[in-house]
Amino acid sequence: MLTQIESRNSTFSAAFGGEAIVIGAGLGGLAAAMRLGAKGYRVTVIDRLDMPGGRGSSITQGGHRFDLGPTIVTVPQGLRDLWAACGRDFDRDVDLRALDPFYEIRFQDGSTFTARQSDEAMRAEVARLSPGDLAGYDTFLKDSEARYWFGFEDLGRRSMHRFADLLKVLPTFVRLRADRSVYAHAAARVRDERLRFALSFHPLFIGGDPFHVTSMYILVSHLEKSFGVHYAMGGVGAIALAMAGVIRAQGGQLRLNAEVDEILLHQGRATGVRLTDGQVLAADVIVSNADAGHTYDRLLRNHPKRRWTQTKLARKRWSMGLFVWYFGTQGTRLKWPDVGHHSILVGPRYKEHIRDIFIRGRLADDMSLYVHRPTVTDPSAAPLGDDTFYALSPVPHLGIGGTDWASEAEPYRQKMQAMLEDRLLPGLADHLTEQLVFTPNSFETRYLSPYGSGFSIEPRILQSAWFRPHNVSEEAKGLYLVGAGTHPGAGLPGVIASAEVLGQLVPDAPRAASKRMAAE
Ligand SMILES: Cc1cc2nc3c(=O)[nH]c(=O)nc-3n(C[C@H](O)[C@H](O)[C@H](O)COP(=O)(O)OP(=O)(O)OC[C@H]3O[C@@H](n4cnc5c(N)ncnc54)[C@H](O)[C@@H]3O)c2cc1C
Repeated sequence: MLTQIESRNSTFSAAFGGEAIVIGAGLGGLAAAMRLGAKGYRVTVIDRLDMPGGRGSSITQGGHRFDLGPTIVTVPQGLRDLWAACGRDFDRDVDLRALDPFYEIRFQDGSTFTARQSDEAMRAEVARLSPGDLAGYDTFLKDSEARYWFGFEDLGRRSMHRFADLLKVLPTFVRLRADRSVYAHAAARVRDERLRFALSFHPLFIGGDPFHVTSMYILVSHLEKSFGVHYAMGGVGAIALAMAGVIRAQGGQLRLNAEVDEILLHQGRATGVRLTDGQVLAADVIVSNADAGHTYDRLLRNHPKRRWTQTKLARKRWSMGLFVWYFGTQGTRLKWPDVGHHSILVGPRYKEHIRDIFIRGRLADDMSLYVHRPTVTDPSAAPLGDDTFYALSPVPHLGIGGTDWASEAEPYRQKMQAMLEDRLLPGLADHLTEQLVFTPNSFETRYLSPYGSGFSIEPRILQSAWFRPHNVSEEAKGLYLVGAGTHPGAGLPGVIASAEVLGQLVPDAPRAASKRMAAE
């Protein structure tokens, strides 16, 4: 059990041995807790929600399980490594299914592009749309692999908190043209605009503007090709629950429905947290999985900052917001047979639409949608014979443009429904049952996400690696950060890797260290 100090004004003087607190039970926070548990810490994970998973949690209404956020699991090896570090077998705890096809892209002109696992199938798709682009596509894949080895396997799996580390890798950044955007890189390899979209939209899945995010992110094409696209039966929430199970088996605990109000420091060192109900918990190691912006701006509000001041955080470019419409449909399991698990409906504009979202802060009339239909793979997401869906549209975050979602949400949802009826799900209105809408306001209130952004700080080149809030805090000793807003960044592979980096930075708990020394 953690040492609990009742008084708000208590000072910390006791010496603690191997207690750790993780603020936030997002996938990054849970992975961090597992890593710390494996290092011998007694871990307490605190989250304000009533279930673990953060953005990967779910809400069930009328038998429809709405997986609120991540749906595509790439790089399952990251999860398997995490489980193995805890002496466990991931595949015993989670039923992960490989999908093939991965997803279908439907363009405005009626043409389609289906992403698949095999090289031949992918090359056939490219040739179908634009035979002259095959050679350029092959080169793009080689480019993608080179960036994977550097950006994901090297940089993404180690701490980037020392400026010297950044200096060492700068020449590789230059050689790999990291200054170029993802779209610019795709455009340099293929001519067909539809292919340029298919090879460049991926940064939107981690909150980046494809016309500005560094081309290092073209590595996603290699990730998909090499490791596939997977779905966890029961949704990503099932992974979160399995993580919670491992943490409990390690002797850790989860405190849900509990919010941290402040991280407490003593002589520059993080010594504990105060909850919003006034309770104080002490620990030797504090890890924040709350958004890095929230951590510095709110949880450390009573301490002067060297780097992450309010002004500096406000100057960062934040990822876009998301408008998500979750809905159930009755009696449709055999309807819309051509609609698979993941679909992307591309609207009439690409570059200008992205500019509206990221630069102008304008809520446009047109939209491009990602549509999730988990019932294709996992019937448990809906009552028998029914379907569960979500449709997601990237929109400006709350810091630009000033969209009034209280009045805009319903008209926007209706436009989304009209687009779905027209291009994907004809007759949708006759089958609608349960529904739920998330706007950027929901992200702000549910996850305490600055500006209601979907994925924290945008992964631009000058906001990546050393430039991102470090995994070992610049502001307080004994404080560490994991999750989307820190290194390496958003997305499940990113936040799981942030916990791997944490494992390299935090020393073993005293009792684990002494046990190991005794064994040696
Ligand atoms: C709609 C959507 C779709 C996505 N799709 C994909 C996908 O298909 N594949 C993919 O890989 N990624 C996807 N992502 C991205 C991915 O889900 C996120 O990057 C990742 O889940 C973020 O994890 P995290 O560890 O940063 O924590 P978060 O999920 O942000 O969780 C942080 C937790 O901290 C808690 N918290 C915050 N402040 C406090 C406090 N003061 N006290 C207590 N608790 C606190 C919050 O309640 C929350 O539970 C998607 C994201 C969204 C929103």
